[in-house]
Amino acid sequence: MTEHSFPAKQPILDIREVITGYGDTLVLNGLSLAIHAGEIQALLGANGAGKTTTLNLLLGFVRPRSGQVYINGIDPATNPTVARRQVAYIPENVALYGHLTARENIAYLLDLAEQSADFSVISEALTAAGLNQDVHDRRIAGFSKGMRQKVAIALALARHVPVLLLDEPTSGLDPLATMEFSRLLGKLRDRGVAILMVTHDLLGAADVADRIGFLRGGRLVEQVSAGTGVERFDVSALHRHYLNAEALR
Ligand code: ATP
Repeated sequence: MTEHSFPAKQPILDIREVITGYGDTLVLNGLSLAIHAGEIQALLGANGAGKTTTLNLLLGFVRPRSGQVYINGIDPATNPTVARRQVAYIPENVALYGHLTARENIAYLLDLAEQSADFSVISEALTAAGLNQDVHDRRIAGFSKGMRQKVAIALALARHVPVLLLDEPTSGLDPLATMEFSRLLGKLRDRGVAILMVTHDLLGAADVADRIGFLRGGRLVEQVSAGTGVERFDVSALHRHYLNAEALR
């Protein structure tokens, strides 16, 4: 029998042994993290652990002092514009133009990303993100936080990017909106998007993530993968473990 060996599938998001920080302070101290297409990785850590710095590293706003970062094979430190074209980034408070409608926001932001903005493509994306047709042409100013996030997800859907980065996506969302949000993330995962969400919301992460990683001392100290049962993670055990580890720092 002949054996064929295939190269392992490359991760879409690839952080290798990165050390970086601000001035004299090191924030990431040998961080390695790999996320493949169709995976949702949650990243938890105490305040100041370096979660947002990790996102800034991927967006090319922070450069590694040593180590490498690749987004779909592109180094965001040396090629930030091309790297950012691969990425949809949803910050905690989604910045949209309040005086424009949901549809106009998407059209404008697609235009900025140098993508065409077909009317039906935008309608489809807004509907897929859970926004009923009757709000597509309403001004964003009157939208709730959950609705704004859906517009941001619609933009990610319409851009067809391979990577989605989320900073505290469920903060300030009620449980129903959080559940809907998780469902939407699942939809993006099913389309093959590689998703990294940094969060303090262990419950929200346990709902949707394939892996939950804990950042401490500038590196990933633990990775827990979802089980196959209904209870994907033992949230209480993770919570206790996390609290004890932080208390012992
Ligand atoms: P939180 O959960 O509070 O949002 P975080 O894990 O996202 O925290 P970061 O925002 O990445 O943490 O910050 C990590 C450390 O780097 C903190 O000590 C913070 O004060 C520091 N820091 C962040 N941004 C800068 C900056 N632009 N200049 C100097 N120090 C910074």
